[in-house]
Amino acid sequence: MDCLFCKIAAGEIPSSKVYEDEFVYAFLDIDPQAPFHCIIIPKEHISGADMINESNSTLIAKVFEAVAKIAKQENLCKGFRVVNNCGEDGGQTVGHIHFHLLARRNLAWPPG
Ligand code: AMP
Ligand code: ZN
Repeated sequence: MDCLFCKIAAGEIPSSKVYEDEFVYAFLDIDPQAPFHCIIIPKEHISGADMINESNSTLIAKVFEAVAKIAKQENLCKGFRVVNNCGEDGGQTVGHIHFHLLARRNLAWPPG
């Protein structure tokens, strides 16, 4: 499958690793929208949040376990935001489910 984030998780395309375990890979976003901005993905391909189901949702739980670990690892003590963009209207540009972890600035709400 020709998937950018599958290739990044497999090490076929270089990335700046932030965190990795058996199920999850996290790396710095190439176009950061905050002083700290990483992308967290399950290593297994899921195309988007609309494809989460009872057979793959444990992988999404692993992603959120990684969120808490990365927050501790990076000392994001003032807080952070986790964002998932899904589909065309959601602004998803890469068809492998991913979660943006943004931190180290005050993040506006609502996001617009
Ligand atoms: P989204 O718009 O939610 O699909 O987010 C895709 C994100 O992937 C964007 O924030 C891009 O900057 C980021 N991105 C695209 N290609 C790469 C890459 N090769 N390495 C790191 N981040 C990337
Ligand atoms: Zn993929």
